[in-house]
Amino acid sequence: MLKEQIDKVEQEILWACQKAGRKREEITLIAVSKTKPLELLEEAMAYGMKDFGENKVQEMTHKWEVLPDDLHWHFIGHLQRNKVKYIAPRVYLVHSVDSLRLAEAIHKEGKKNGRVIPILIEVNAAQEESKFGLSLAATPGVVNEIASLSHVKIEGLMTIAPFVENPEDNRVHFRNLYQLSVDIKQKNIDNVSMNVLSMGMTNDFSVAIEEGATMVRVGTAIFGERNYKV
Ligand SMILES: *Cc1c(COP(=O)(O)O)cnc(C)c1O
Repeated sequence: MLKEQIDKVEQEILWACQKAGRKREEITLIAVSKTKPLELLEEAMAYGMKDFGENKVQEMTHKWEVLPDDLHWHFIGHLQRNKVKYIAPRVYLVHSVDSLRLAEAIHKEGKKNGRVIPILIEVNAAQEESKFGLSLAATPGVVNEIASLSHVKIEGLMTIAPFVENPEDNRVHFRNLYQLSVDIKQKNIDNVSMNVLSMGMTNDFSVAIEEGATMVRVGTAIFGERNYKV
């Protein structure tokens, strides 16, 4: 069952790439494995998945302790500053940095661990009140400030689009995020690369790819519905 679901997601990624004239290699599929048991992650690994997304610190560190060393662990949830120390040694990419204070905490732990931690800046592209993330307007300024921290590296931007019936409704937000990343890239800021755009989930990853996503975060379409009670 998992194999068929992964194949279906792969097929849709390929179609979106074709439609947009992009190469499949430009896009990283992140399997969002939050709430899912280790056995399902192992099964996904057997089908070639290497990038996993988690939104709880404890759950992520537990999983990486048990599973093989060569996986890429993406932290995609809201991150509290006092918990950065637990993920600093091994996190592959933190997608959800939305303040200078959080970036400073990551920088500090990066320094302690002798590594530069890759991060994305989370942007609330649709300006939803309930969501974390910086406004489009505030993002360039915060990027500038974070760029001066030596033990974090800004690789790009991330957004969580609204839940909508029709994924076309999110196209404008993906387009705005892409445009913002181009604008920031043109400034050639030291320590900022803007090569990563993390956008698109189960409902809208095809549209996100058409609009320039380089990472899509897909949970439900791969692993099925989540049950938060267990
Ligand atoms: C849960 C989650 C996803 C995956 O959502 P699906 O709709 O299940 O694909 C992607 N990104 C973030 C930040 C999430 O929290």
